[in-house]
Parts: sequence; structure tokens; C-alpha cells
Amino acid sequence: MVRPADDQRQPPPTTTLAVPPVRPCIEPSCPSLTPRTRCTMHERQRDKGRRPADQYPHEYRVNRALVLAESDVCWRCGKAGATTADHVTPIAHGGTHDVDNLKPAHLRCNSAAGATTRRR
Ligand SMILES: [Zn+2]
Ligand SMILES: [Zn+2]
Repeated sequence: MVRPADDQRQPPPTTTLAVPPVRPCIEPSCPSLTPRTRCTMHERQRDKGRRPADQYPHEYRVNRALVLAESDVCWRCGKAGATTADHVTPIAHGGTHDVDNLKPAHLRCNSAAGATTRRR
């Protein structure tokens, strides 16, 4: 009952497909490999949000965490629950990512995010 023809009907292995070279996602501490600069998840996040915070360096994220650990009272509306840090002096105006230049702010109150992000 063995038909040798069966072997020849097996589909060829998929190695004939062109597989793009992959490298690690450039987002810090992301283990994903991607043929592009970022993994699919980070690519999507970036496209969706375009939040200026994503373009800030590691220093900003560290200092933002410090600022929020100290207080989560939004410096713009005065209410608690801030989740991001706003630059008192905007980077575009020569401000820094230093803790002295960061104050807790709600995402919707954050001047930079509010100007560019439309939240549904
Ligand atoms: Zn990633
Ligand atoms: Zn606020």
C-alpha cells in the first residue's frame, strides 16, 4: 500500500521564501526581533500615539518616574492622578529633561501631548 509518489507530493520547505534579516527592536529592553527598526508592537504604538514622550531619551523617563514618585498632583489643573511629566520650559525653547524642568501632569494636561495627541 506504500505509494512512493506520496513523498514527491510533499510541499517543499518554506525556506524558498525570502526571509528578511531581523535584528533587535531599538526600544530599550525590548527582546523582540524585527526586520524593521522596531518590533510590530512598538511600531504600532509609535504610529498610533506619536507622543513626543516616546522621542525623549532615557533620561526623561527616569526623571519622569522620579517626579511622579514624589507627587502625582498635576501642575496644570491641580488634581492628583498625573501619569506623565510636563516640561516647564519646553525642549523646543531650550528646556532640559532635568527633574528641575519636569512637573507631574495628566496626559491631557501635558502641553506637548495635548497639542499633538487626539484621544478618543
Ligand atoms: Zn519592541
Ligand atoms: Zn491635569
